[in-house]
Amino acid sequence: MQVPLFRFTLAPHHRRLIAAIDRVVASGRFILGPEVESFEREFADYVGARHCVGVANGTEALMLSLRALGVGPGDDVVVPSFTFYASAEAVAAIGARPVFCDIDPTTFCLTPETVRSALTAHTRAIVAVHLFGYPAPVEELAEFGVPIVEDAAQATGGSGAGGRVGTLGTIAAFSFFPSKNLPCLGDGGAVTTDDPELADRVRMLRHHGSRDKTTFELVGFNSRLDALQAAVLRELLPQLDGWNAARRSAAARYRDLGLDRQVTVPSEPPAGEHVYHLYVVRHPRRDVLAEALREQGIEARSYYAQPIHRQPAMRSYAPNVALPGTEEAARSNLALPMGPELTAAESEHVVAAIERALAATTP
Ligand SMILES: *Cc1c(COP(=O)(O)O)cnc(C)c1O
Repeated sequence: MQVPLFRFTLAPHHRRLIAAIDRVVASGRFILGPEVESFEREFADYVGARHCVGVANGTEALMLSLRALGVGPGDDVVVPSFTFYASAEAVAAIGARPVFCDIDPTTFCLTPETVRSALTAHTRAIVAVHLFGYPAPVEELAEFGVPIVEDAAQATGGSGAGGRVGTLGTIAAFSFFPSKNLPCLGDGGAVTTDDPELADRVRMLRHHGSRDKTTFELVGFNSRLDALQAAVLRELLPQLDGWNAARRSAAARYRDLGLDRQVTVPSEPPAGEHVYHLYVVRHPRRDVLAEALREQGIEARSYYAQPIHRQPAMRSYAPNVALPGTEEAARSNLALPMGPELTAAESEHVVAAIERALAATTP
């Protein structure tokens, strides 16, 4: 039996997607317009935020959010090192300085303690990443009085103690890259916020800093969500809760099968819902385990083995930071097959293979 890390087919939605694309082609409106506006309304309602602005991708959703907050050269932004590169790249790309904070390796997310030790006199924002779908403790960061940008790229549809991700901080960035929990057919992203002024600034920034394409008030970007992608997202958004519920069932099944006796399984948050963008376990001999799984047809992969503060482009921002939680996560993490379509038979095969592999390699 071959079990890929993720398998996800849009085949059941093929006709509906073609009809949505057909509708946009017939309308002749490809940039902004009614499909984008409708998706923005529907996604804001789904998340529970007052405003949503569709943008070109998740990376630019972060850049526009930070710019809308007034962050730029001379400012520091706290960001975890254990995350996808774009979380920190967005900070440097707008001229600010990423200051790397540690994570709790049991949640893979930042904590109030790790943020506190990364604060400087110039901190203008905190990027709270909901990594692998786990809701970062955003509410507990309010005490610092610093604006919080949620990086919700891996947690669309998830929730924390205070509600859905995308409503927990000051402003939030989403990605609809095809492998994310809510995919589109290419690149796409969104920003959500309750603050009308921030929403207005993101709306201008995505459109060359202009409201009307005649007067340019800001130096912005060309970063709009395509009408075609908005139409696709409008068809797929109603599926998101079902997909996330299936991911959560697959995670519960791994536990029921006794996986937690073999490896350290992902923590469940104290409140809210983990949406398992990835199912990431920890084990001290994860490379041996990954190889043994590969031999049994199971794809397993470690993430961010080279955390961002050790990436060549970011070394100048992290001359000598010590991030023990990050190093521990980088050393021991292993993503196992996960997705809305993971079957019971596949889960059983994965857990049995891990049992065999660890029994064979125990020193
Ligand atoms: C995917 C991702 C991004 C970037 O999203 P894109 O749409 O690919 O630009 C940012 N942060 C995290 C944590 C991600 O996983």
